[in-house]
Amino acid sequence: MSETPILAPDANGPTICIGEILVEIMATTIGNGFLEAQPLTGPFPSGAPAIFIDQCGRFGGQAAMVGGVGDDDFGRVNTDRLRADGVDITGIHIDPVYPTGSAFVRYRADGNRDFIYNAGTSAAARIEWNDAVEAVVERAGHIHIMGLALSMPKVSEMIERAALRIKEKGGTLSLDPNLRKEIRYSDETEARFARLVELSDLLLPSGDEVERAAGITGHEAAIARLFARGVKEIAFKEGARGATVFTRDGASVHHPAFQVTEVDPTGAGDCFGAAYLTARRLGLGIEAALAYGCAAGARNVTRLGPMEGAGTRAELDRFMIETPKVA
Ligand code: ATP
Ligand code: MG
Repeated sequence: MSETPILAPDANGPTICIGEILVEIMATTIGNGFLEAQPLTGPFPSGAPAIFIDQCGRFGGQAAMVGGVGDDDFGRVNTDRLRADGVDITGIHIDPVYPTGSAFVRYRADGNRDFIYNAGTSAAARIEWNDAVEAVVERAGHIHIMGLALSMPKVSEMIERAALRIKEKGGTLSLDPNLRKEIRYSDETEARFARLVELSDLLLPSGDEVERAAGITGHEAAIARLFARGVKEIAFKEGARGATVFTRDGASVHHPAFQVTEVDPTGAGDCFGAAYLTARRLGLGIEAALAYGCAAGARNVTRLGPMEGAGTRAELDRFMIETPKVA
């Protein structure tokens, strides 16, 4: 397995994420939706890009967030947490009019979730390219992109502009190709997604997202196609089965999952990706980074709240010693 560095080192500048910052408010009982008054808990800081960047900061990497919150407590819940975890928040715009985005979540008995989701008509969707964003992008060494964030038109344009600039400066790019299967995206979104796959150094897919990113069926054929297009490393997330990293030389390395009791699965993929990416940017090899990724994903599912279980490097070291792996 090749161990040539494939990502811009941490010292070259922060990892940045552009996208939604939300609060999550969770029903404390299991049932169907929100049609009657019920106990809730939260607000928890949330939004996939925010979870990701928070885990980067907690792990000890340079990290910066670009997004929008309202001038309200839901916004402050997020900015306070990100700042405390070492994330540069100078690229977060405080919208004077629109409120912070939110997601209300309740689990059903069958494990599915009902959502009331407001990002599209919140401060999260109203961000603009301004001087503060420009400054963050100019400092950046790496950009991490959520496929899902590409469905918000303004945000999507900003992401591609930042990605092109960062790659032009010798920075690197990672992509979680998590576009939803159920949703039909516009041709423009699909075309932008395909362009960003071409620019990716590291992909962080799960399930059939490898095929989605490659645009062909068959897991192995899809991996070969992605490497042919310039991707350098693929860290494939397999939930409670752990994760596998594929490299261009045809090699792969698997890490089993850590044995935990899942309390809240939200955020596992983002914590995995952030710990893996940050460890790689800090110079760790694939096996060590993969162990940190699996530990970060597993630790996060043991806590209620999307980023409550994001661990520092020291916490993850302890977690790995104390937690058995799934056989
Ligand atoms: P998300 O549900 O956030 O979209 P994802 O599908 O992108 O997640 P997962 O594969 O669910 O990503 O989780 C990422 C990693 O976290 C896994 O590869 C695994 O290492 C760890 N992980 C997730 N769920 C569990 C679990 N129940 N037990 C142990 N480890 C887990
Ligand atoms: Mg996923």
